[in-house]
Amino acid sequence: MKPVTVFRYLWALPNTLLGLLLLVPALLSGGRVKLVDGVLEISGRAVVWVLERIPFAGPADALTLGHAVLGRSEEILEQWRRHEQVHVRQYERWGPFFIPAYAFSSLYARMKGRDGYLGNRFETEAFVGEKDVIT
Ligand SMILES: [Zn+2]
Repeated sequence: MKPVTVFRYLWALPNTLLGLLLLVPALLSGGRVKLVDGVLEISGRAVVWVLERIPFAGPADALTLGHAVLGRSEEILEQWRRHEQVHVRQYERWGPFFIPAYAFSSLYARMKGRDGYLGNRFETEAFVGEKDVIT
């Protein structure tokens, strides 16, 4: 593994650890965990429970936390994979500052009269970037 790759994983690690908190509850609730392109995709009933209760953003189909992607089901994870991979790259750039920056971008969009989700610059980048990711 290249040093820059190690740094990206370490830089995003605080966020990844948040996602990994759901690993055991997901497995205990009949979920699945899959490693795809260096990213852990986690699904299951415990994940659904969390996705329906995300403050200001729920209910969601999927959520990226560093190198962990939470999804309602394996099918939904596959459907959103390219989009969530863009978010993984964003976590690799922003590290522990990603969540505050994301929240600020949603707040800023709302202040400008735009939708807090679709007007968020990180979502705009993900919706554009999902078309460019080669899988
Ligand atoms: Zn997104």
